[in-house]
This record gives sequence, C-alpha cells and structure tokens, in this order.
Amino acid sequence: MSVPANEPGNPAHAIFERFLRAGECQEVLGCFVELCQQLGLQGTGLQLYHGLKAALNYWNAKALWSKLDKKAGHKDYDQGTACAGTKCLVVGAGPCGLRAAIELALLGAHVVLLEKRDSFSRNNVLHLWPFTIHDLRALGAKKFYGRFCTGTLDHISIRQLQLILLKVALLLGVEVHINVRFEGLVPPAGKAGGWQAVLQPSSSPLTQYKFDVLISAGGGKFVPEGFKRKETRGKLAIGITTNFINRHSRAEVEVAEISGVARIYNQKFFQNLYNKTGIDLENIVYYKDDTHYFVMTAKKQSLLKKGVILQDKADIESLLSPENVNRDALLSYAKEAANFSTNYCLPELEFALNHRGLPDVDMFDFTCMTRSENAALVREHNGSRLLLGLVGDCLVEPFWPLGTGVARGFLAAFDAAWMVRRWAAGTPPLEVLAERESIYQHLSQTSPDNTNKNITQYSIDPATRYPNINLQAIKASQVRDLYLVGTVE
Ligand code: FAD
Repeated sequence: MSVPANEPGNPAHAIFERFLRAGECQEVLGCFVELCQQLGLQGTGLQLYHGLKAALNYWNAKALWSKLDKKAGHKDYDQGTACAGTKCLVVGAGPCGLRAAIELALLGAHVVLLEKRDSFSRNNVLHLWPFTIHDLRALGAKKFYGRFCTGTLDHISIRQLQLILLKVALLLGVEVHINVRFEGLVPPAGKAGGWQAVLQPSSSPLTQYKFDVLISAGGGKFVPEGFKRKETRGKLAIGITTNFINRHSRAEVEVAEISGVARIYNQKFFQNLYNKTGIDLENIVYYKDDTHYFVMTAKKQSLLKKGVILQDKADIESLLSPENVNRDALLSYAKEAANFSTNYCLPELEFALNHRGLPDVDMFDFTCMTRSENAALVREHNGSRLLLGLVGDCLVEPFWPLGTGVARGFLAAFDAAWMVRRWAAGTPPLEVLAERESIYQHLSQTSPDNTNKNITQYSIDPATRYPNINLQAIKASQVRDLYLVGTVE
C-alpha cells in the first residue's frame, strides 16, 4: 500500500525538499521527474500544479503553494483560463525565457521551453530593481534560495536566478527540455497543419509539437528570422567581468559593496587608481553574492599599456580577439582593480572558476549595442497563424554596468504575456501587434524612477507598470509589414 503523501517519513517530501534545494539545472530536472513518478503524476500545465498541491500538503510545501496560489489568483489570468488552448514554444532558459514561460503557464497556456545547454554556469551578478525583488518574492524565491535578497541586497547571480525560475516553471507545469537547440520554423504543410520547429537533435520528439505562439528568449546572439536588428554605436566601451571565491569570512562580510562608481561622480577615486596601478576605468561595480563579482569598463590605452591587449586595432572585434589578448595580463588587471577598489580588504582573492574550469574573467565589447526594431510579428501560412515575440537580451541588449538587463527583461516578459493574452482572446492580429509596439516604445527609457511606484500592483497589464501609457500610440495601419504571409525564407 502506498504511503499517503502527507504522512511523516513520506518519500515524496524528501524528494520535494531536495528539489527545493537543488543547485544544478540537471539536478532540478531529475528531482522533478522523480517527484512526479513518486506521486504518480503525469501531464503538464496547471493541472499538474494542482496535482502536486493536492499530493504535497505538509507545512513547507503549503507555504509555497499559498504564494503561488495568490499569484495565480490574479484577475489577469482568469483563473488559468485566459490562454487555455494556446500552445506556446519558448526558446531559451535564461532568466527572461523562464520568466515569460511562468506567465504563460499562469495564463493557462500549454508551454514547452527549449534550452540548448544542460547547465546554468554564469556566476555574474544581476542588479535587481525593487519590482523584480518583489516579483521574485511573490513567486516564492526565498523557499528555493534562503539567502535571496536578505537585508538591503538587491542582486543575484544569473545562475541562482535561473534555478529559482526553473523550479517555479516546472511546478506550474511548463515542459522544460534541455540539450535541444531551436534552429528555425517549419510552416504548416496543409490547411490542417500547424507551425513546427526545426530542432537539433533532429530526432527530438518535439519536432512534432505544433504551436501558435513562439517566444524567443535566446539571448543577445539569437534572434529568429524576420526581425530586423538596429545597432547603436557608442564610444568605445570595453567591459571586464570577474568573479572571486566568496568564503563568507568575517573580513569578507565587512567589505562594502560598490553599487556603481562612475567616473563623473568620483574623479578622485579613478585618478588614484590610475596613479597607483596604471589601470584606467570609466566605472566599476562590486557585488558580494555567491562570489565576489566585479564589472568594470576599462579604457583601451590602459589595457594596451598593461599588456592586456597586445596590439591596437581599428575594429573592435580584432582588438578583443583571443589572439590579441594576453589572458594572464587580463587576470592581473582585473584582480588589481578589484583589490584597489575594495581597499585591499578582501583577503586572498582567488578566482572562481567558469564552466570551462578556468578563472572566471571575461572581456566584452559594449561599443555596439543592438536592439530589435520590433518586439513581435505574425506569420501566416496555409491559413495558420503564428505569433512571434521577443523578450530579454534578444529584444534589447543591456549595458551590464548599468544593470538594466533583467529588469527590462522582466518588463518585456510581462508585455509579451499580455500580448499572448490579447491574442488568445481573439483580438485582430494587427491590433495585437500595434499594441505590442506601442508598449515596446517605452522599454528603453524605463528606470525605477519612471515606472509606477506601486510595485505591489504590477501585473502583466502594462497600465499597472508604465505611467500614462497610450496603448494605441501606434495604429494597426502602421504595423502591416509585421504581418508576413507565405513560407519562411
Ligand atoms: P540569456 O540569459 O542570455 O539566456 C538565453 C538562453 O537561451 C541561454 O540559456 C542560451 O543557452 C539559450 N539559447 C540561445 N539560443 C538558443 C537556441 N537556438 N535554442 C535553444 N536555446 C537557446 N548582465 C549583467 O547585467 N551583468 C553581467 O555581468 C552579465 N554577464 C553576462 C555574461 C554572459 C556570458 C552572458 C551571455 C550574459 C551576461 N549578462 C550580464 C546578461 C544577462 O545574463 C541577461 O541580461 C539576462 O540573463 C537576461 O537574459 P535573457 O534571458 O534574455 O538571455
């Protein structure tokens, strides 16, 4: 006879506790499969969520369900029926793909999420705006990661954020598949067909999945065809990120974070740094998280002088190409900057390792930032329509030292979910697209100061977040070229 799930010593509780604490992507997925098997639960979507809830009703699980129930009870979701019958494919298990998938699941859509990798390895730390902290708390973040935004902390490592969101997505019935790469679209073959995906490996059973909405959250380098990119070329900006092991010692705890020292505000600090070390920076940020994380923008001349960049070159790609960078000099540069900016108070700085097992130091070009011209489009073929939306870095690439990435990424994830809600309600496609573009116009100007102050009221409804938003700023007649009829090139 099987043990009822709420009895002490019930194996399902132990599996669920392991799931809550799991610290690697594959471990999370493994625990979840084990949990569903143990409870004899199948299926996806909110039905699975209700099954889990009914089966796991001991104190720790109940605390999480009450958070998620409160969230799911919001009127925008129509009790999980707003998008019932809508089939979504989300590409990318970065923070924004996962966040969008969660909203779509709450709306009652069938959600399949693909991720080409099988691990979450980014130590780098993301700045959180107050609304993102509130949002993650409401999703039960503290249940998965006890140290989430304790005290005045307003940041989280990318991998921890992905872990939290992956767990929430799974509980809400999102189907997550790792090691699957999205490569393109297959238009419907006949009148009764539906849109499908070209995937790698091509043997994946998901190639048979037919969907009516595609949300692309594949990051800065991945944008599906049909979308045009716009480049903004600013002045040369070379970013360096580095992570050191955090042993959480007393000495480490006492060192103050630097939440953004820009040259214009602190000339003296940067002058001293230059005089004493030869390092010349535009800005530097230091967050104490799972690691000691630093992000800085360095001046080219000082990188040349310190032997980090070997030869000056006109185009930035060749300038920062691996052959033109002395890695050891880069490590020394990053470590010296970290030591100076923390007054040499972080003892024994030792590099954390990246997913390749190498010291976690990277140099990136922020000179040319790209954004998509449009946030969404519709394709129609053989009478079947597909709504495509972009979220996260593939919509707008963020400048990391400003820490706008995940906040604007979440705003766009909510906007995309709102768009899918309107689509599922049968709103004419051009109206859906016009409204989405009207909202998108606001994204690049958003800051914690010019978004609505009442963050507890934020929902996928744009009016709760953007003050005085005009949802008809762009008219349906202006977005006709976003409705593409015919096969994919
Ligand atoms: P991402 O987090 O990039 O996630 C995209 C996901 O899609 C990835 O998991 C990728 O594997 C997957 N994917 C891509 N193509 C496909 C495909 N064809 N099929 C299936 N899956 C696919 N921001 C900061 O503010 N500070 C930092 O220090 C910082 N460091 C970063 C370091 C790196 C190496 C990268 C890539 C980004 C960094 N960012 C940083 C940006 C930050 O991670 C993003 O703003 C944030 O994660 C939100 O991005 P996203 O979810 O849109 O995309």
